[in-house]
Amino acid sequence: MIDENLRARIAHAARGLAIGGRRVPGQATMPSLDPGTGKAFIDVPAGMQADIDEAVTAARAASRGAWAKTAPAERGKILRRTADILRRDAHWIGPIETIDSGKPLKDGIAEANAAAAYFDYYAGAADKIEGDTIPQPGDVVSVTLREAVGVSAQILPSNFPLGTAARGVAPALAAGCTIVAKPSDHTPMTALILADVLDEAGLPPGAYNAVSGKGDAAGAALATHAGIDQITFTGSLATGRRILAAAATNIVPAAVELGGKSPLVVLADADLDAAAAVATKHMFTHAGQVCSAPSLLILEIPIADALLDKLIARVSALSVDHGLRDANLGAIASAGQIAHIERAVAAARKTGGELLTGGARPDVAGCPDGLYYAPTVLVVSDAAQPIVREEVFGPVLTVLIAKDADEAFALADAGQYGLCASVFTNDLGRAFEFQRRVSAGQIYVNDWHLGGVQAPFGGMKRSGIGRERGLAGIEKYLRLKNVSIRPRALQP
Ligand code: NAD
Repeated sequence: MIDENLRARIAHAARGLAIGGRRVPGQATMPSLDPGTGKAFIDVPAGMQADIDEAVTAARAASRGAWAKTAPAERGKILRRTADILRRDAHWIGPIETIDSGKPLKDGIAEANAAAAYFDYYAGAADKIEGDTIPQPGDVVSVTLREAVGVSAQILPSNFPLGTAARGVAPALAAGCTIVAKPSDHTPMTALILADVLDEAGLPPGAYNAVSGKGDAAGAALATHAGIDQITFTGSLATGRRILAAAATNIVPAAVELGGKSPLVVLADADLDAAAAVATKHMFTHAGQVCSAPSLLILEIPIADALLDKLIARVSALSVDHGLRDANLGAIASAGQIAHIERAVAAARKTGGELLTGGARPDVAGCPDGLYYAPTVLVVSDAAQPIVREEVFGPVLTVLIAKDADEAFALADAGQYGLCASVFTNDLGRAFEFQRRVSAGQIYVNDWHLGGVQAPFGGMKRSGIGRERGLAGIEKYLRLKNVSIRPRALQP
């Protein structure tokens, strides 16, 4: 399925760790899996402590040297060129993301274009980072400077490798920070490709470094490194706790973007066709491996049966295949993850969960070892079940039925996570009540994933700390300094 041209690009991207503007072999290598075939397609460098030390040193040098000296408007131009190159190359970066992550080809290409949108947005912000003046008596002048925080350690997840990299790298560079990125061991390719893209765009050596490797080796070495000034982590709740502990050791700020069990509530007055279409599309994107998927569907009882009929008709029509064949769903990132999905579904069924569709590994022609799971819908009557509270991170939609809007809203806010939430209703009063009662970083009405690159995104409760996207997404890369000046010293 991989032609010669693409194979050559893959080998070129994986030729070494990106450190200080060079490619270096790294201390070891590790195979990268195509989850669609279940087979390794390339060996990539596996960074260790010594590689992380080298990368942090390079990032530190650039943060005090070349990148610090680059004028903000020039930073913006480099980010704009990065966006242009990502769009120009999306036609081959997309397929590599697809092979590495398992997602459908159109989504791999869309991710490269989405990454470009982050660079475009923050290109415009680079020369607009301003401080304040503080009212003072007499001729004293007091101002705030918003300085680059320094070296940003960015630890990336497996599901949106390039999108998440761009989401953190673009605002960090706009702020004047430099970066050491550690991509997921499951999806290391595009963070390495980004090094070549940034190099072509004119980024000085060392301003962006990418060290692929295992979480407990390169990841832990980076998170605990005494030479970093800030951490941006995107991944699971369990690893997020480790990252916050590492940040506490060095007293550095950490933004942690974690998991979710995001509710989509459909009230009795809603447009049911629209609700079924939106729930299907967003739940099964990338086979449900999306932190902000609407994985908990809460239906007001009068419309529950009608909505479920429409939903099942849509979900049963979804196709599953190798990402390069561009079906609706591709593969699951790892064998460990697919086992976790199977355990979650089995446990839910054992405690009374009613399976409406899916619930098994489908056969995919030509990919006997591929990691696939069928799109699955389960109705659960007991809201205390783990499948209602825990993230499955696969194509499994859990459905609860509520007796009225009041109960639906209470269920929507009952979980440990708080990433996204939506209500489908034509009653504006109900929509406002929903947003008041539900703790989530993003609330939607009659849709899902509105807002785009410009709107702040992030978690409440155990979905995390900090905000990505929008102007809020730059704040973590800035530190505030207050400077107060008395133009002439007072006479004693
Ligand atoms: P994960 O926690 O397994 O891994 C995330 C990253 O942490 C990887 O790069 C991994 O190598 C690294 N890592 C693992 N152990 C480490 C350690 N001890 N020290 C330092 N780094 C370590 O998560 P994943 O499976 O890659 O991603 C899926 C999770 O990410 C899901 O929970 C999903 O909801 C979440 N996610 C959240 C967002 C968001 O914006 N909130 C976006 C995407 C994914």
